[in-house]
Amino acid sequence: MSENCLFCKIASGAIPAKLVYQDDDCVVFHDIHPAAPVHLLMVPRHHIASMQQVEAGDAAWLGRMMALVPQIALANGCNPGPEGGFRLLANSGKEGGQEVNHLHFHIIGGKRPWQGHTAPNA
Ligand code: AMP
Ligand code: ZN
Repeated sequence: MSENCLFCKIASGAIPAKLVYQDDDCVVFHDIHPAAPVHLLMVPRHHIASMQQVEAGDAAWLGRMMALVPQIALANGCNPGPEGGFRLLANSGKEGGQEVNHLHFHIIGGKRPWQGHTAPNA
């Protein structure tokens, strides 16, 4: 636990969030400002600033987290199959657009009727 870290406080329960999943490695909750119909944040329980700090020794917990992503995405409204899917995103560091300096993965999905073929990455 890192003092004054928002996501440490959410992981410990000190600050409330709309949790959808938790285990010994991580918590998953709804982003407070959803950018799509499904917008979850997957956060490791232990404090690590970003993907920039990840090392080989982190492979076990990180691998377990990654292996959970498909089932968490499906269980929370992402659509199955090639016509569905989701985006998995880890902003890392200032130049990576990271605002909360505790590693987290955005799981973003659901139908976006406003998203045309001309802007597939919007
Ligand atoms: P990033 O720019 O990758 O660091 O993203 C941080 C994300 O955390 C943003 O999408 C915010 O909307 C989200 N966020 C900030 N505070 C909270 C909170 N208290 N509960 C849930 N999500 C939050
Ligand atoms: Zn933290």
